[in-house]
Amino acid sequence: MAILLLADHDNAHLSDQTAKTLTAATKIGGDVHVLVAGSGAKAAGEQAAKLSGVSKVLVAEDASLANNLAEPLAALIVSLAGSYDTIIGAATSVGKNVLPRVAALLDVAQVSEIIEVVSSDTFKRPIYAGNAIQTVQSTDAKKVITVRTASFAAADASGNAAIESISAAANPGLSSFVGDALSSSDRPELTSAKIIISGGRALGSAEKFREVILPVADKLGAAVGASRAAVDAGYAPNDWQVGQTGKVVAPQLYIACGISGAIQHLAGMKDSKVIVAINKDEEAPIFQIADYGLVADLFEALPELEKAL
Ligand code: FAD
Repeated sequence: MAILLLADHDNAHLSDQTAKTLTAATKIGGDVHVLVAGSGAKAAGEQAAKLSGVSKVLVAEDASLANNLAEPLAALIVSLAGSYDTIIGAATSVGKNVLPRVAALLDVAQVSEIIEVVSSDTFKRPIYAGNAIQTVQSTDAKKVITVRTASFAAADASGNAAIESISAAANPGLSSFVGDALSSSDRPELTSAKIIISGGRALGSAEKFREVILPVADKLGAAVGASRAAVDAGYAPNDWQVGQTGKVVAPQLYIACGISGAIQHLAGMKDSKVIVAINKDEEAPIFQIADYGLVADLFEALPELEKAL
């Protein structure tokens, strides 16, 4: 058994999504080789080599691989696929873009967003917005898998794997990189934050959202999330949305403020270790999954909390 793990990185830094995907890969069992494909990606390759459980790191550097374009990256993975039984990656925007293409090119089914490894060919994954867990067995000779990393702890960094440089595959030339518009923030990134404070429709405006949620986030060193209702109303930017059609998070602490607890929101945060809900309606469904519930007006409770912090 050999497993090829597609690393998530920005050339300089390996994302912790890779260390979490590695935990899933080691549960499948077999030699794990990490593929770091990029341009000037030596540093990310060295970080991958330190993860314990990795037996080899393959670093492919080429201008065509600089921006995680699905087409050249999938061509590279397919060119390596003959040596592997399993190809695995995090269910991030890169993994979700590249691995279905790999599965299609290999003519196998993809197993998406696994949350548990039952055996080398059997996995658990959420369906119906997390309301049911499906156990799937893949009979394909090669498995192509994406991992919901919130369900796996990160592998530690006590390894020392060999690093091998490999060539890129021929670029199919189906896409080219034009540019990206990245949001810059001093706050922790939502999917890797240890603490998240989220606001809902109750905030009422973008100004109130900033005025009430952000000072508490600053005091806690927390990332900021939002319900879809808050995002749709323009109170919070799109990339803050938590839920079925937003980000899936599992921080140590999730504080939901003025969020009712619709299943589509819960699908994105219910695996958080400790959930705190502040809502003025004691019947709000969010209280059913909250570890600590405060029935209060958030416009009074949050400034008080900030003061206390
Ligand atoms: P509401 O449901 O309106 O709740 C507001 C809450 O604030 C209420 O419980 C109220 O009691 C409380 N409140 C009001 N004033 C105060 C106050 N002063 N102090 C304290 N509490 C107060 N939603 C997501 O969040 N993420 C998703 O990814 C997502 N994906 C979806 C996908 C699909 C296909 C569909 C159909 C829906 C999706 N939704 C998603 C929307 C979801 O169904 C809900 O509509 C949404 O989550 C509601 O947001 P909310 O809780 O902020 O608003």
